[in-house]
Order: sequence, then C-alpha cells, then structure tokens
Amino acid sequence: MNEDSDADADASADAPCDAPLPPGRDPAASPEVRHEAYLVPGFDAVARMLCAALHVPLVALVLVEGGTFFFAPGSSKLPAVSGQLQDLLLSAIARDASREELDVHEHAGAEADGASTPLRFFASVPVHTLTHRHVAALCVIDFDPRASLSEADRVMLADAATLAGAAVVLRSYIRRVDPVTQLPHRNAFFEDLRARAEGGARSLAIVAIEVAPASRFNAFIRAMGHQYADALVRLVAMRIQEWMAQDMCLYQVGVTRFALLLADTLAFADSASFDRLVARLREPFDCQGIPLTIQPGVGLLEMPASKLTTGDALRLVMSASHTAQQSVRGWSHYEQAQDELHQQEFFLVTELSEALNNPASVAANELELHFQPRVDLRSGRCVAVEALMRWHHPSLGWVSPARFIPLVEQAGLMRCLTDWVFQRGLQQLSSWLRDGLDIHLSMNVSSTDFEADLVPRLLLAAEHFHVPLRYIELELTEDTFMHNSEAVQQRLAQLSELGVSIAIDDFGTGYSNLAYMRKLPASTLKIDQSFVASIDESADDEMIVRCIAGMARSLGFRVVVEGVETASIYRTIRDMGCDEIQGYFIARPMPGRDLAPWLARFEADGIVEGDAL
Ligand code: C2E
Ligand code: MG
Ligand code: MG
Repeated sequence: MNEDSDADADASADAPCDAPLPPGRDPAASPEVRHEAYLVPGFDAVARMLCAALHVPLVALVLVEGGTFFFAPGSSKLPAVSGQLQDLLLSAIARDASREELDVHEHAGAEADGASTPLRFFASVPVHTLTHRHVAALCVIDFDPRASLSEADRVMLADAATLAGAAVVLRSYIRRVDPVTQLPHRNAFFEDLRARAEGGARSLAIVAIEVAPASRFNAFIRAMGHQYADALVRLVAMRIQEWMAQDMCLYQVGVTRFALLLADTLAFADSASFDRLVARLREPFDCQGIPLTIQPGVGLLEMPASKLTTGDALRLVMSASHTAQQSVRGWSHYEQAQDELHQQEFFLVTELSEALNNPASVAANELELHFQPRVDLRSGRCVAVEALMRWHHPSLGWVSPARFIPLVEQAGLMRCLTDWVFQRGLQQLSSWLRDGLDIHLSMNVSSTDFEADLVPRLLLAAEHFHVPLRYIELELTEDTFMHNSEAVQQRLAQLSELGVSIAIDDFGTGYSNLAYMRKLPASTLKIDQSFVASIDESADDEMIVRCIAGMARSLGFRVVVEGVETASIYRTIRDMGCDEIQGYFIARPMPGRDLAPWLARFEADGIVEGDAL
C-alpha cells in the first residue's frame, strides 16, 4: 500500500463535529463527517487496550489534517470538550514530539468551564505512518492527578501509536474520494444507499453509467496513457453533472463507472431525459485536443428498500448498463433474464478457461474436437476435414461454439483455445497420416489470434506432431481480413509461403468484397451456409450462391459450399460447378476416432443421393 499517496489523496479530510480544528483551518470550510466508515478503523480496539493498560478514562486521537476521535471505556460517557482540552489537543499535533502534563490544572493554568470536568493529566505521542509522516497525536487523559508514566507505559503508548498510524492510513484508503474526479467513491455510495433505506425510503432509484467496454478503455490507455484517460473520465463526469437534477448524487464507483442515486423513481418515467443523457455522452469529447467518442451504457434500477443488499444493488444496475452499452438506445432498465445471462456467460468463460488451461481438471474432459468431412465434387473423395470445438457442459449439455467462441474472444482467451485446437487437431491429423489416410485438416482461427504469435505457434505444433504444413489450412472470416489488414496480410503471406492454405470462411456475411479478397494470399473461399439453407426456395439465394461461386472461381479461388443439408441442395450446388461441399448431407461433425470407419464406408458407397440426417 502506498500509504503516503493515499493519505495525500485524503488531504481534504473531514473535521468531526465538536472536534478541535488544526491550526489555520476554517471551521466553516470543513466538511462534515457523514459516514461510519470514515472513522479510524481499529481505533476503538487500540484505545480500549490503552485504557486498560494505563488505567486512564479517556483516549483521543487528533489528526493533523483535522478531526478528533475520543474513546472512553465501558459505560463512561465522553466528557464535553472543554476549551482546556481543546488547547491541549491542538498543541499535541502542533509539534512532532511526545509530551506529558502531570498536573494540568496547575500548570496549564486553564480555567475549567463550568460544564466540563477539569483534567489533571494529559500525555501525548506523535503518530507516524510507516514512511514517518506525522499524521496524528495519540493522547491519554485522566481527570485525577497522577504520577509520571512508567517506562512500560511509555512503550505501550508508543506501540499503540504505531497501530494508530496504520489505522489512519487505512482510514484514508477506505474513505477517500476518487482522486481523479474528486467524486465520492463506492464506499460512500453504499453508505448513502443504506442510509436511504434506513431513513424510510420505500424504494431506491439507482442509475449506473458505464463509460466504455473495459477492453476499449484499456486500449485507449495503452494508446494515450493514463493522463488522457483520467482527463476523459473527468469530462464524462462533467457531462453527467450538467445533466443531473439538483436532488441527484453522483459517485464514481469504478474507473470507468459512475452511479447516481435519485431522490425517487419518478425520474425513470422521463425517458426523453435519458435519451438526452445518452445523446450528450455520445457526442465526441475534446480530450486535450484529441476528439474521442465513448460507448456509454446507462442502466436503471428500481429496488425496494427492503430488498437492499448493497453489494447486489450495484451489480444489478451495472448489468443493466452493460446491456445498454450494446443497445441502440444506450439506456435500459434492469432485467433479471439479462442479468442471469451475463452471470451464466461469466461462469461459462471461467469454466472454459479452467478446461483449456488445466488439462488435469474435470472440465478438461468436457472439451472435444470434432471433425466434419469436406468432399471434392469432381472426384467424389473426402479431401479434408474441418476441426470444430465441442463442449459438453455438465449441467447445460452441449454448448454451441457459436455461443462460447465470442465469449472466449471477449475474455481474451482465444490464444489458449486456438493452441488447444492446434494441439488436438494436429495430433489427430498426424495419427491419420501415419495410418495412411490422405486428408487435409482445416482449423478456425479468429482475429485476436493474429495479434499474438500465431505463426510460430502453429509451426511449433506442426513440427511437434511431424505434420507437413501442406496438410494444414486455416479458416478466417472476412472480418478478420478486413479489420487487421496490415498485420494479418503479413502473417498470411508468411504462412502461405510455408505451404499452409488459407480459406475465407463464412463468405457473404461480411463485407463480401471479392476484389479485395483476391489481393489476399487465400486459396479457398467458403460460401456461408445462410445462403445455402433456402437455396431451393429462394431464387435470390440461388442467384447469390451462383454469382459468388462463378466469380470466385474465375478469380482462382477453390469454392467450398457450407451447410449442404439435403440431396436437393447437393444437386443444385453440384450443377453450379463448385469445388467442394460440406454439410450434414455428407456427414455431421464426428469425433476423430469415427472418421476412419466413416471414410471406409464413404469410399465404398460414394455420395448417396437419398437425403441424409
Ligand atoms: P464455421 O467455421 O462456419 O463452421 C461450420 C458450422 O456449420 C459448424 O457449426 C458446423 O457444425 C455447422 N454445419 C456444418 N454442416 C451443416 C449443415 O449442413 N447445416 C447446418 N445447419 N449447420 C452445419 P459449429 O460447430 O456449431 O460452429 C459454429 C462456428 O463456431 C464455426 O462456424 C466457427 O466460426 C466457430 N468455431 C467452431 N470451432 C471453432 C474453433 O475451434 N475455433 C474457432 N476460432 N472458431 C470455432
Ligand atoms: Mg469454419
Ligand atoms: Mg463457416
């Protein structure tokens, strides 16, 4: 813990009511103490021990930055703070030194005011942080005259001061306002929320605002640095403040997250107001001369005060803001179903990560690689198989890769998954090649794979399993090619020179720019199954597939048609002059061990034109 910087962040600290003020501070300028959490944690325990060990009825801790905390043991009441005590407390922090007043009544010469008991003994020790910053004075007080402290008492007092030093640092850590925006932070939010519930509010109205998805904000920090990021967050806070009504309180509850407590839920009825907030937040920010846009999400939560479990309130409203971030409108009410989906996604990613990273785990056995045959239409032979991930979840059953692959990508786990596929896929391919099967393997890779060292990873795995590179094909979607053109092109060129084939997957669902695709070192183009499914009913789809296939072939691509489910689709495709087909009509994806027997049957029977499935 960087205690000094945390304590510094605490510079605008509170001054408790009835407490003496540090020199030079204006009482009117001192904010009130509002929160229990702002007390010095552990002070009571330290003071109780001091009272017992030194037999004193009162202990006080005076903070240099302002604020005094008293402790009187048992049922003793805290005495009213007299002018005499005020003076002593102030002088205790004025100097960074220990002090002992044996008979205050006579020495200090202070007049006891009528309301308070005159003190007779006062001793104080300075309190330091671990880096020797003088932050407070710990004082023991008696109302009876007494002898000087013994050596053991002094050691005890010094030890207590050390503990108090740690507690003061901890206090500033816990209760500080956010140093970037100077807004109250999460603790204050929870305390206020609880106070409202305890203060009789029947329902709580909370708004959460997420500035940008974490990945995007981190990319922004990487590109621009923390200073810019801080400046941006401040600008966002200012726009929210401009929008806010007088009776709303704004908190910074995370680096890129704000929360608002509304006076009541009436404001939720004014949807135009939230449209205005989103529109304003979507306008470009001029962040230190650089124009920037964010992707805000505003979540709304109405919660009965009786149901308040503070930790959850924030989680629920954040779930709504997360949903809102992806929506066109940019704001949305909390919905339980959506929240459950987020939770489930989180657990899926956690479990998948465990399965991928820990081969010894139970979860690891839930993952399998299946292989789907691709058949060459001219020769009628199965020339390749596509590797497809399969996950059998213990409670959810089969989870589709269409569902978990995007989650893996968002969670930054794609590298692990692709490595896993390389290992399993190439191990299987190597065993097929050893058994004399002449078959190619295509594996799907995603755009995030290209950010990392994809090429050496593939080469290493191929070498490990003694697989010649010409047997390998990588499938990339159009978007991958378009988004990272420079880096991707370089790596693809390298792979293609080494003999690895490249296929454009799901063609027709993205930019579908054939002229651009031709510039890439890809040799195969896979037409997406969405056009193929209704090719027999839709003349448009038939025309699209026919045109893409014709153009792609004339540009030199090998054309593969995905999703061939029926005999009639097969016949239509065959007559278009495509090169390969893949689909349930030929075979569903199957475990590696089933391929050899399937191949034997297929080679004997050829394509049987009765419908499959
Ligand atoms: P894809 O690469 O386009 O794979 C083809 C998908 O179509 C597979 O779905 C396959 O099971 C399905 N399919 C094949 N023939 C037919 C058919 O006749 N009819 C229908 N309706 N579907 C058919 P799957 O296995 O669910 O995978 C979905 C997507 O998930 C894949 O689409 C691919 O983008 C991704 N994926 C799967 N495994 C991996 C992997 O290991 N790595 C990466 N990066 N992505 C993967
Ligand atoms: Mg594919
Ligand atoms: Mg595909």
